[in-house]
Amino acid sequence: MYRFYINKVDDDYHFMELARAFLPDDGFETIPYTGNPIKYLPSKTSFLVNEKGSDDREEIKREFYGLLSDLTGIRPPWGTLTGVRPLKPALMICGKSSVEEMEHVMKDRYLMTDEKASLIADIAAYQLAYVKGIPWEKASMYIGIPFCPTRCAYCSFASNVAPASEHAVYLENLLKETAYMGKLTEEHSTALESIYIGGGTPTTLTASQLDRLINGVSEAFGIDPASLEFTVEAGRPDTITKEKLDTLKRLGISRISINPQSMKDRTLQLIGRDHTADDIRKGYRLAKETGFDVINADIIAGLPEEDEKDFTDTLSEIIGLGADNITIHTLSVKKGSRLKENDPAYYRKNAATVSAMLDISRDMLTEAGFSPYYIYRQKHQIGALENVGWCRPGKHSIYNIRIMEDKQTIIGLGAGAVGKVYYPDEDRLERIANVSNYKIYSERFDDMLARKDEYYR
Ligand code: SF4
Repeated sequence: MYRFYINKVDDDYHFMELARAFLPDDGFETIPYTGNPIKYLPSKTSFLVNEKGSDDREEIKREFYGLLSDLTGIRPPWGTLTGVRPLKPALMICGKSSVEEMEHVMKDRYLMTDEKASLIADIAAYQLAYVKGIPWEKASMYIGIPFCPTRCAYCSFASNVAPASEHAVYLENLLKETAYMGKLTEEHSTALESIYIGGGTPTTLTASQLDRLINGVSEAFGIDPASLEFTVEAGRPDTITKEKLDTLKRLGISRISINPQSMKDRTLQLIGRDHTADDIRKGYRLAKETGFDVINADIIAGLPEEDEKDFTDTLSEIIGLGADNITIHTLSVKKGSRLKENDPAYYRKNAATVSAMLDISRDMLTEAGFSPYYIYRQKHQIGALENVGWCRPGKHSIYNIRIMEDKQTIIGLGAGAVGKVYYPDEDRLERIANVSNYKIYSERFDDMLARKDEYYR
């Protein structure tokens, strides 16, 4: 066990996160030191960081990164950046200087590799070209449907395999919450910029339930789904039917998401999906025939037993099937997932393979005419890498961009949904999380509404 005493730091959270990119969770301890004189016993496993007493946190982090690199022999490509939103500091720099200068600053200040700095520069350039301003007076909305046909091995979301009777009870409460929030936003004349129905897998609901939900949202918020960005996740192809896609299309939904993760049958079996790659192909064909404006596909790099060739085959096929948005996720193995229970160290393995997969994705997607347009990182991602959303020009998801900016109110509806209220005068957000258990959501429904009322007012 290594012990790192961090001088003149009273909050060691980011230092702990940085050390996680190098060492297993139980392999180190970070200890903030703010008093003087500093007493510690140097040894082969015990170190003092910031002996000279600098007040510059970035400088202290760079020193810590150097020490961790010397100890482990690895240099994580994101340098000292630990947050989930690496674009945020980049855009702040872009506000004062050019994208090229920002790229240099990111390398010098955060020790990012050339490759990651150039990725951030490409994303910043895309957003500056295609996404004008942030209408903070508008809101985005997320609606959670916490049901799936089976549970994936890496899943840590609010997702449940539940009988149809429970879907029905949940939907009734969700419609009540929708109507209630619609009234509240009407009182405040809050317009919506985008709506995202995710989960779980929303298309676990029947066509008529989807119809009721979308009509309920339209009535409650006085919107025409066709007049704003409205996405419905149809993530699992085994939930897709022609009737459901026709219903979504008829109601004016322009964007859907079909998420293969992999086109290899063996992998789909290993991760606990109850469908084949052929089901994914059928889902895409059906969605294309139905005529949605944008079809998104999520792919994961680092799935069990996959190598670079498997990943390349998946991506090549998804590009060929005609996806307009492709989000490349690095596998994140979180607590509560079966992968983590089966192999607690899984996320620390395969960093080189996943890094190579991300390089491949960059080359292939650029070649196919896609641009990277949003990025985020999660805890416990293999190699402390990243998730990047790619799109054909102009086909980006404004919802995906807004949730990363933290400068807009997000209305969260349903179990597991996290709403955020933005206070522009103070440039800060306050989170209002609904309970993630769908049964408790129904049981404590009235309490939850009362709490929301207080916040949103
Ligand atoms: S489809 Fe998504 S939400 Fe559903 S079980 Fe799999 S990872 Fe979880």
